Amino acid sequence: MINVTKTYLPPIEEYQQYVQGIWQRNQLTNNGPLVQELEKKLKEYLGVKHCFYVSNGTIAIQIALKVLNITKEVITTPFSYCATSHAIVWENCTPVFADISPDDFCIDPSKVEQLITENTEAILATHVYGNPCEVDTLAAIAQKHNIKLIYDAAHAFGVKVNGTSLFSFGDISTCSFHSTKVFHSTEGGAIFTDDDQLAYLIDSYRSFGHKSDNYYTIGINGKNSEFHAAMGLCVLPKVKEIVEARKNIFDLYDKLLNWDKLTKPKVKIPVESNHAYYPVFFDSEEVLLKVRTALEAENIFPRRYFYPSLSTLKFVTAESNCPISDDAAPRAMALPLYYDLAHTDVERISTIINNTIS
Ligand SMILES: *Cc1c(COP(=O)(O)O)cnc(C)c1O
Repeated sequence: MINVTKTYLPPIEEYQQYVQGIWQRNQLTNNGPLVQELEKKLKEYLGVKHCFYVSNGTIAIQIALKVLNITKEVITTPFSYCATSHAIVWENCTPVFADISPDDFCIDPSKVEQLITENTEAILATHVYGNPCEVDTLAAIAQKHNIKLIYDAAHAFGVKVNGTSLFSFGDISTCSFHSTKVFHSTEGGAIFTDDDQLAYLIDSYRSFGHKSDNYYTIGINGKNSEFHAAMGLCVLPKVKEIVEARKNIFDLYDKLLNWDKLTKPKVKIPVESNHAYYPVFFDSEEVLLKVRTALEAENIFPRRYFYPSLSTLKFVTAESNCPISDDAAPRAMALPLYYDLAHTDVERISTIINNTIS
């Protein structure tokens, strides 16, 4: 069976070594030494100023909204995983969907600007498939209107623009370290900022809002455990190798697929990519469903991603005007891509797709 992704598992002995240390110290959570070591190594690896390890990528977005004191409208993208808009609704804020650009599927800055009202307090944009949003334009809009800029950078682990981590953009960036992501710690996530004041708040908000006897604010439990940090510490040294293997598969799909009948996202800003996903867009949903049936018959399971367009979810928004996202999401599919996917399987998958679409 071939799934859209397969979690990288380190040699079990490496994990066991960390577990032995946990047993010796008898400290399983509450900002333990492995959590601190992972945060330190992530900061070095990514070249970012502050990094707070949390329990997942969704709580990371919620904490970002909280520390920035966002309570009203958030302009966001309909082309993302549902966690992006759910975090906004969960925090009692109002998501306002700005449509995406048809070429890179990231939020369209010109649509963002049209939707700004006196109630707009933030932009929450996703770097779709790890490809950067138009970061300079969005930063200029946020500054001009004095609103906050948050990136859901769940797909962007290790992605660099001119040598700078994509996590350094915006007031706050968040990431997910879920098992399906390029870098993972079983479950997990992180919050990144360059702002010392925000860093102080994030640190207290993720841990009930108090440090021992000093109670500061209303917090939540966003901490992560020593066991999760241990997995992260085992996976981090392998990320370069994992990304390299993914790149080879990526290049092979590029070479083999029939681009007369398919499109893929344009990368507008040159990046050092992490090859997180291999998305293709079919001419219609009908073609996508035909391809999926053909692949499933061979025990190959791609994933409709992102689908559906979040602007179509009635429990998220009553109304929206996002024709580009509503058209793109039903045609979007992520193909299998993981570190040890055999090149012969990539050939097989490409042949099935090409035969079905031609
Ligand atoms: C994975 C993902 C999330 C959620 O992360 P979790 O760690 O699973 O909570 C949020 N946004 C995007 C774009 C994602 O891909």
